[in-house]
Amino acid sequence: MSDYDVIVVGSGPGGYVCAIRCAQLGLKTACIEGKDTLGGTCLNIGCIPSKALLHASELFEESNHNFSKLGIETGKMNVNWSKMLEYKNDIVNQNTKGIEFLFKKNKIDLINGWASIKEPGLLIVNNQKFKSKSIIIATGSEPSQLKGIKVDEKTIVSSTGALSLTKIPKKLIIVGAGVIGLELGSVYSRLGTDVTVLEYLEEITPGLDKETAKMFRRILSKQGIKFILGAGVQATKKLGDRLIVEYSLRNDKKREELDTDIILVATGRKPFTDGLNLKKVGIELNQFGQILTDENLKTNIDGIYAIGDVTSGPMLAHKAEDEGIALAEMLAGQSGHVNYDIIPSVIYTSPEVASVGKTEEQLKKENKSYNVGKFSFMGNGRAKACLSADGYAKILSDKTTDRILGGHIIGPSAGDLIHEICVAMEFGASAEDLARTCHAHPTFSEAVREAALACGDGAIHS
Ligand code: FAD
Ligand code: NAD
Repeated sequence: MSDYDVIVVGSGPGGYVCAIRCAQLGLKTACIEGKDTLGGTCLNIGCIPSKALLHASELFEESNHNFSKLGIETGKMNVNWSKMLEYKNDIVNQNTKGIEFLFKKNKIDLINGWASIKEPGLLIVNNQKFKSKSIIIATGSEPSQLKGIKVDEKTIVSSTGALSLTKIPKKLIIVGAGVIGLELGSVYSRLGTDVTVLEYLEEITPGLDKETAKMFRRILSKQGIKFILGAGVQATKKLGDRLIVEYSLRNDKKREELDTDIILVATGRKPFTDGLNLKKVGIELNQFGQILTDENLKTNIDGIYAIGDVTSGPMLAHKAEDEGIALAEMLAGQSGHVNYDIIPSVIYTSPEVASVGKTEEQLKKENKSYNVGKFSFMGNGRAKACLSADGYAKILSDKTTDRILGGHIIGPSAGDLIHEICVAMEFGASAEDLARTCHAHPTFSEAVREAALACGDGAIHS
């Protein structure tokens, strides 16, 4: 029986980052992973493979639609799907192997197998006992299922199956206009698939700033993705070789049908706690099956902690990582902290959509008076030169103090630009502070500065 200071269960971005920081801070650390490769959902079947396919398909789209405008003449471009999947798998491999290297470098013991908690301080893996002062549950999440729809990962797929389809489908119906639906919908739409998204709510991307969501939907529609809003999907059926989706519109209960080759169910994810023995140990869950933790990420049982998708909060890799680092620091006697008010979120479509802090809807609900500074990428020389002037940067600042309360960007490199606003918010900056910071010309970041200027006396280029 081994004795550890910390054993982390799960090697996703929450678990592996936590294990590395624990080891760096001098704690004797092990990480248990049930799957053959490290990195969890994010590296194997989430962030990384989806971004690889988004990258490849975006270049294909660029070559078909923009190259000729730039004076680059090519013959007809073709997609070699199996080669594209090979590239995606290779990127996944490189990343997961990278975590193995980091574990070795930091002297973290890797235990391969599915862990079960016997009692505080004691885990069982493959009938072997492992003792540890602290146990950290970082077991992540899995796709949530829809009643009446059985995912077989062949024709009715979750994101996992959608990342490895055997061929590019002619028709794809996506249930749910959230992040997964729109990112993977973009991939296939760019590769020539006829994509229809059925969304239960009246707008796509719930929780996103409304004005931004509306503009986002218009841009995606222009790119060829079809949306049916207010459409609740109830069932699917097979008629010969046809696959049918049954749905009804919220304001008209009549059943509608659409036929397709592939259905992607992207209606959210739920925490994964199978086999952990939580009930017997007495660990409390909330109504969504998420592990309840206090402000120190501790469960109701002493010595057992939880981080990442298996707990509450946004299901994002960087949220899991930040919790992992904060918890490691707390266990090492330092004062770890996660600022849940400043967690950016990014949708990696083209254009990208990124946001942080409050939306206008939230500020209105809180009765807060605020300035809106908005700047269109049409006024940004670099965006024009790159033929990517769709979208805007929008900053919301407090009416009285001018302190930045939120930022919403739809446009080129929005996922990188948003971090300027995050850093400004961490330092309690005003929009004027950001506007008075010199920004290099010509960069996309000038649009963010102009949005900050627009919170005050006005942008220059609009
Ligand atoms: P996970 O990454 O789910 O890892 C949990 C690990 O625990 C798994 O490896 C699992 O095998 C292991 N495990 C579970 N139970 C046990 C057990 N009993 N014993 C041993 N091991 C166990 N987020 C972003 O921020 N950006 C993105 O671009 C992004 N894209 C995504 C795209 C897709 C298609 C999907 C599905 C998700 C995406 N996400 C993205 C979300 C992101 O993947 C998750 O938020 C993140 O992986 C959560 O990390 P985690 O460490 O909590 O759990
Ligand atoms: P989501 O919660 O973002 O979106 C699900 C959508 O499905 C919602 O709009 C919901 O209204 C709709 N829906 C639910 N039931 C329906 C029904 N019966 N009929 C029609 N529509 C229905 O979930 P997701 O897109 O599956 O993503 C899961 C998680 O993965 C998210 O929490 C997200 O944070 C994470 N993720 C993040 C990224 C990123 O950061 N770029 C990328 C992919 C996934």
